[in-house]
Amino acid sequence: MSNLRFKVLEEVFKKKAVAVSVPEQITSEYYGKYVFNKEQMAKYLSKETLETFIEVVDKGKTLDRGLANHVAAGMKMWAIERGATHYTHWFQPLTGGTAEKHDSFIEYSGAPGSSVIEEFSGKLLAQQEPDASSFPSGGIRNTFEARGYTAWDPSSPAFIVDDTLCIPTVFISYTGEALDYKTPLLKSLNAVDKAATEVCHYFDSSVKRVFSYLGWEQEYFLVDDGLYATRPDLVLTGRTLLGHESAKNQQLEDHYFGSIPTRVQAYMKDLEFEGYKYGIPLKTRHNEVAPNQFELAPIFGETNLSVDQNLLIMSIMKKIARRHGFRLLLHEKPFAGINGSGKHNNWSLGTDTGVGLLTPGKTPEENLQFITFVVNILMAVWKNNALLKASIMTAQNAHRLGANEAPPAIISVFLGSQVSAVLDKLETSTSKEAITIDSKQRMQLGIAKIPEVLLDNTDRNRTSPFAFTGNRFEFRAVGSSANCASGMIVLNSVVAAQLFEFKKTVDAKIAAGSSKDKAIFDVLKEYIKESKPICFDGNGYSEEWKNEAKKRGLDCETSVPLIIDAYTTTQSIRLFESVGVLSERELHARNEVKWETYTKKIQIEARVLGDLVMNHIIPIATKYQSALLDNVYKIYQVYDKEKAVKLSAHDTGIIEEISDRISIIKSKVEALVEARKVANKIEKEREKAIAYHDTVVPYFDEIRYHVDKLELIVDDELWTLPKYRELIFIR
Ligand code: ADP
Ligand code: MG
Repeated sequence: MSNLRFKVLEEVFKKKAVAVSVPEQITSEYYGKYVFNKEQMAKYLSKETLETFIEVVDKGKTLDRGLANHVAAGMKMWAIERGATHYTHWFQPLTGGTAEKHDSFIEYSGAPGSSVIEEFSGKLLAQQEPDASSFPSGGIRNTFEARGYTAWDPSSPAFIVDDTLCIPTVFISYTGEALDYKTPLLKSLNAVDKAATEVCHYFDSSVKRVFSYLGWEQEYFLVDDGLYATRPDLVLTGRTLLGHESAKNQQLEDHYFGSIPTRVQAYMKDLEFEGYKYGIPLKTRHNEVAPNQFELAPIFGETNLSVDQNLLIMSIMKKIARRHGFRLLLHEKPFAGINGSGKHNNWSLGTDTGVGLLTPGKTPEENLQFITFVVNILMAVWKNNALLKASIMTAQNAHRLGANEAPPAIISVFLGSQVSAVLDKLETSTSKEAITIDSKQRMQLGIAKIPEVLLDNTDRNRTSPFAFTGNRFEFRAVGSSANCASGMIVLNSVVAAQLFEFKKTVDAKIAAGSSKDKAIFDVLKEYIKESKPICFDGNGYSEEWKNEAKKRGLDCETSVPLIIDAYTTTQSIRLFESVGVLSERELHARNEVKWETYTKKIQIEARVLGDLVMNHIIPIATKYQSALLDNVYKIYQVYDKEKAVKLSAHDTGIIEEISDRISIIKSKVEALVEARKVANKIEKEREKAIAYHDTVVPYFDEIRYHVDKLELIVDDELWTLPKYRELIFIR
């Protein structure tokens, strides 16, 4: 067989950018055209229905069947007019990604056999029972009582994909436990709303609601689809398990913010047009640091909607990549040795009165509020740093954290010099200073001076996993393929719990006779002292930091299965239950799913690695070795022995190296298979995952090392797997 790699390479160079059909209207005119948003609702719902519906969404009132029927009727009409023939409850199972099962709108108008009509009732809109027995539930729902149901989330608008009306829903078991990400996310948003609103009342009694905001930055790789198809590891695991580093990769840093390659530019354009139709406010696009790595980011929005939009755009990204002859890689570390992909979660809180609670204010009052929230967030992250790490940790993200510009696997907070200085000042101020409270006094504490300096607080400390960036925190440890909800559930929950505690402590001081402002100051001062260990502005990569972090009591665990334990510590269970986000049973069940997923991912990778080594690498290396032996043989035929020894020295050296490496590789693969067999016999998911982590994973690098060395010596013409230089530089 001629080498598929070269055939593909020949084709790749002929590829041109795909022409993109540019919408005739300007963006604002077609923006959101596939979304049943308020504007569309106004056209398809009666004024009364719309008003009641908005009340339900904005004030969290319960939704009655009558209203659901009215909304369903309008939604159906809107969807059918836009070519939809089917509808689906769109939900977010714990497997990651989204799930949907399509049903047609048709129903018999009378007895079976009569003609059909399009039907969609409030009942169908509000609740469904998908046959969801094969979604992971961590044992909450056995396959024989497969009664999970999906329920409409009216706070995220329905949308149309191709011919299907998609209705965002939560997914819960028959007994009420969350089987998805959306359910606990909504609960955490509720909790943080409640807690933050109460705290806001110390400063402004007119605040009625606090929103959590999210702006994600989605990083991704594009690989030519021909090259992709010839790499079984990319196809089956989303990352390369083998491959020697390219001589040139990102050393010159010439890709970041460079001019966008034409095929990719066409892809991005297409993607944006599509995103706009779904009302996703895509704002930024650029090359990322690694070759063939790119990023897109929208304008931030309310967290629940923003999470849904990220999930939707990830699936649109995949589809559109195909149209442009690319494959999209969302894996956190598709290529060793160069940057992996993250998804920075820019997060903030803001009031219904339009005040950003993480934005330094103009008045002393607003600045005390700002500092109150920042300090409480510090406390929340300090107390729950292990849990926050667990929220973003997966088999894939483990490869990224701590390597090539990604933050390390230790959670710390970067505040920047200005905010740090304000906190220092507050901490050391004598209580006398702090208690003589009027606006002017507070100004003397420096708190009112924050805004000017903060404006140009540009933090480029990329190694910080959780950084303050002027008006928000950036949770940078999140992985590119993740559902943002996972991190957002934890972050909003821990902040909610912290704010409730703060309120309780301050109120107690007030009840004991302290003035409100003194009480707030006193508690903040305590918190600043206590949460110090979480603040770190230095280089997160250094060995010193690892040692220092351990001393400070930060969680430094690197084993994914053990990191996940943070969800079920007594402290975490109490926290999640106290804010009403997840029950103990749910937490345990969800961890089972996490361990199982971890094991399966490693299992698949181990199998693929074994196949590649036995079916590709060893046969190719042997073939080359045989050609060399042939050559040596011929040399001996032509020359006398003394000369032949000399002339064949190079070949015999390589022949021996190949033999040596092959035998090491073979024995390591056998040992890996053995380790898997032993691990597979373990019943408990947690222990099985630990066994995979401790006894299977170490072989990956050991095997790869020798394979990559073979890649360097074997004739390029024989090598069938596209090399790194081809995968990351051709587009
Ligand atoms: P950078 O690469 O400098 O971090 P980007 O512009 O790529 O910044 O992305 C920043 C993201 O943060 C965007 O999605 C932006 O809308 C979002 N963002 C800005 N302000 C806030 C805020 N107050 N709360 C949440 N997200 C925010
Ligand atoms: Mg950013």
